[in-house]
Amino acid sequence: MLHQSFRKSRAVFPHIPTIVPHTEGGLLCNLCAHECQIGPGQTGFCGVRKNLNGKMVGPTATQAFLHAYYDQNPTNCCAAWYCPAGTGCGYPSYVRTLAGEKSTLNLSVFFYGCNFNCLYCQNDSHKRDLPRILLTSIDLIVSRAMDSNTTCVCYFGGSPEPHFPFALNLSKQILHHRPEIKRICWEWNGAGHPALVQQAAIYSLKSGGTIKFDLKAFHPSIAEALLGIAPNVLQRVYSNFTLVADLQKHRPAVPLVSGCTLLVPYYIDHIEVEQIAQFIAAIDPSIPYSLLVFHPSLFLRDLPITPLPQVIRCFHAAKKYLQNVHVGNLHLLGFSSMQDVLSLNIDGK
Ligand code: SF4
Ligand code: SF4
Ligand code: SF4
Repeated sequence: MLHQSFRKSRAVFPHIPTIVPHTEGGLLCNLCAHECQIGPGQTGFCGVRKNLNGKMVGPTATQAFLHAYYDQNPTNCCAAWYCPAGTGCGYPSYVRTLAGEKSTLNLSVFFYGCNFNCLYCQNDSHKRDLPRILLTSIDLIVSRAMDSNTTCVCYFGGSPEPHFPFALNLSKQILHHRPEIKRICWEWNGAGHPALVQQAAIYSLKSGGTIKFDLKAFHPSIAEALLGIAPNVLQRVYSNFTLVADLQKHRPAVPLVSGCTLLVPYYIDHIEVEQIAQFIAAIDPSIPYSLLVFHPSLFLRDLPITPLPQVIRCFHAAKKYLQNVHVGNLHLLGFSSMQDVLSLNIDGK
């Protein structure tokens, strides 16, 4: 039975279905692990694909619901602490200078719609604004990506998975036409079809880009309560992570994959973080891992900012297994780095 808060969270957005549609005889979408079967008049769980009179409508390989804009490098994307633009790793193949890039641009491609239902979603415009967004043609985005000062393209949202045909086609065109460095990066929940995830990873691998998986929870019951996903969807996230991490050996100098976990108070504690860190370390302990301080948002406005002792406990839990652990959003607690926090010798207990 669906948790009451989950039903309420979906009912606020009448254009998206309450549950994953599995209508017998409906149109099948397998872009992500939900594998919706969309009956006539129904919409897929992500809200972007619909069955209109027996025909699937929505984004295609040449049109998508998106908002694209330039951001100056190094961007505020939470992979900049280890990526070529932020650090200069991979110079000269994947970045313009040994010190990273300070005046180049990142083309941020924000996709509307998402196949998860995180109660705390900090980007909820992806579903709030979805009914008002028109499809954008791929030609426009290719031409923006070809701007001579643009060196990376980052797909996020929402989540890119429901727009995989478009994003993969766009990546292919960018890499085909590129006169110079164009890194292809993804920030996603990671529950896409494995074959498409692999294709996306190959574009990142070739271009010097990175893939950030939001490893939001480890235990299926927490994932179900917080993110609105079934155990098989969570399992897909972790198996896709392994699949992408396996490609890292082809480009050892520049991290291809990283994990990221939002420290939601009372839900994502040091036990949860320790298990995620153990999972990553079993693949490769040098894989970068970010922990993010939570701030109240959407349906979890009654929670506090992650308390400092929880941050410290989670950091130590991750550091037990992993070599590269970073904590983001520390400004919410009045700190600029984890070093500053640790120098206070506060006990995390
Ligand atoms: S992308 Fe995922 S959520 Fe959206 S329709 Fe396809 S299977 Fe369903
Ligand atoms: S888009 Fe990729 S290369 Fe550019 S700043 Fe973000 S992680 Fe780094
Ligand atoms: S995966 Fe990201 S965009 Fe999607 S609901 Fe969760 S937090 Fe929001």
